[in-house]
Amino acid sequence: MATLTEQLTRPAVRLRGLTRSFDQRTVLDGIDLDIPAGQFVALLGHSGSGKSTLLRAIAGLDHEVVGSGQLTAPERISVVFQDSRLLPWRRVLDNVLLGTDGTEKGRAALDEVGLKGRERAWPNELSGGEAQRAALARSLVREPELLLADEPFGALDALTRIKMHALLRELWERHRPSVLLVTHDVDEAIVLADRVLVLEEGRIGLDLAIEPPHPRSYRDPLLGE
Ligand code: ADP
Ligand code: MG
Repeated sequence: MATLTEQLTRPAVRLRGLTRSFDQRTVLDGIDLDIPAGQFVALLGHSGSGKSTLLRAIAGLDHEVVGSGQLTAPERISVVFQDSRLLPWRRVLDNVLLGTDGTEKGRAALDEVGLKGRERAWPNELSGGEAQRAALARSLVREPELLLADEPFGALDALTRIKMHALLRELWERHRPSVLLVTHDVDEAIVLADRVLVLEEGRIGLDLAIEPPHPRSYRDPLLGE
């Protein structure tokens, strides 16, 4: 049994010696990483450096990685990808609620991401940014301890991306999940995160604390006061 102190100080994510290879090629080469509960971490790295592989491992989506090292992650994890992965045959609210109950929670989540009034819209009636807002609402409604996001704004135009940055930071400040945001956008990493990691040659090559206060304010123009 863990002591109370251990429970309170235990990191949300703890990796030791995590390794993953594809056909003899080592992509993750013994990753050691602790993410304290509530921390907002950005993970940078060149295309092909293994960012998505690491995220999938932490999400529990990669069965091969099990046993390669030590991997501890919270039970309630939400994942957001570059495409919203909304089911086209379900209305927005039904997508958000999928597998959960509590319509009111779903409505509240949609309200929080600026999609009030769009509950009955079909996914193909949403813009790219709105679809990602819905994806964030779908992740929120599950009250995740850890939010994993794999280049969630990578397909959006620059202006929409800025609005999404404001929204994500605001949601994080309100709900305080641990966040691991994969991105190849250095500005995005520095603006949003409290800590920036760079994945290089299968290891965490750089681990930088970003000092508060952040250089931006984060009010989402689509949200009310
Ligand atoms: P990133 O997200 O940083 O762009 P990935 O984690 O997607 O990188 O991929 C890292 C490397 O692992 C790439 O060379 C990719 O081709 C390889 N890879 C990822 N998934 C698989 C897979 N399922 N089968 C074979 N190779 C893979
Ligand atoms: Mg990737």
